[in-house]
Amino acid sequence: MSTANLTRAETAARSAAVTVLSYRVELDISGAPDNSEPGFATSTTVEFDSGTSETWIDFLGPEVRSVTVNGEAVDIEFDGARIALRGLRASNTVVIAAVGAYSRSGEGLHRFHDPVDGRTYLYTQYEPSDARRVFACFEQPDMKAPFTFVVTAPAGWEVVSNRPAALHHVDDTRQVVEFSPTLPISTYITAIVAGPYHRVESIWSRDDLTVPIGVLCRASLAQYLDADAIVEVTKQGLDFFAEHFDYPYPWGKYDQVFVPEYNLGAMENPGCVTFTEAYVFRGAATAAQYEGRANTILHEMAHMWFGDLVTMVWWDDLWLKESFADFMGALAS
Ligand SMILES: [Zn+2]
Repeated sequence: MSTANLTRAETAARSAAVTVLSYRVELDISGAPDNSEPGFATSTTVEFDSGTSETWIDFLGPEVRSVTVNGEAVDIEFDGARIALRGLRASNTVVIAAVGAYSRSGEGLHRFHDPVDGRTYLYTQYEPSDARRVFACFEQPDMKAPFTFVVTAPAGWEVVSNRPAALHHVDDTRQVVEFSPTLPISTYITAIVAGPYHRVESIWSRDDLTVPIGVLCRASLAQYLDADAIVEVTKQGLDFFAEHFDYPYPWGKYDQVFVPEYNLGAMENPGCVTFTEAYVFRGAATAAQYEGRANTILHEMAHMWFGDLVTMVWWDDLWLKESFADFMGALAS
């Protein structure tokens, strides 16, 4: 069996032995517009407590350049899917520098060159286990941790993640965006979106809570984006869930991005939901199409609480979050 296959039994043993405290993930996608660049530099710094002296961390990519365990560079034991970690202590800091590959399959960090204007768009898609195509991580839903993403990208691009930007440095050609740390979340709902996306903004507020709303699509589709209708459903949904869940929206902001070449309808990344571009209607749309889009917006929004804040331990309980989001999405619709 390939070591890329993660089993329920071995991941349960890993989460019983290892408690992740934090991740800092640094990605350099500044070369993405150049199609002759197949990959990007990726660095993970992960802090964790361990009750075992050895385990593994997941990574799917062309190259691991260095592995540092508690300040010491160690031999790289990488079989193409797993990096062995040995000599662990009760508390550990591991740094892994590697090269990831841009994807065209919708798995990991997808790269799209727009044939309309030649511009480049990136987004991530990880469920169930493709975060490891972008950064080294313990790839299983029950090993939640706060993530801090730091992205180096071409200047002038929108760079979006689960949280708002905390620090932003720009020079003539490049920008470095450091995002605020997330709440503890699973790897499969972390997200990065980057490119010259068109962006429309609004704000939802209720009581003491203010949530900035963003609606994004590629520039060449901007003329078709009916952002007002999308924002209206979004605000109605936030009202509905605020009343029905009795738990304030926990993710700070709510960006919804319509992305090219998407394999699925939408994905509930907290604060950074991705949707298929098929929901940007380029001609007259039927009532059923508007209803279908509203239902998807509300399904993903229900996941902000059920799926994202509360998450199944392993994929055999995926039905819990999906059936509940389907129910709440339909009820909200
Ligand atoms: Zn769902």
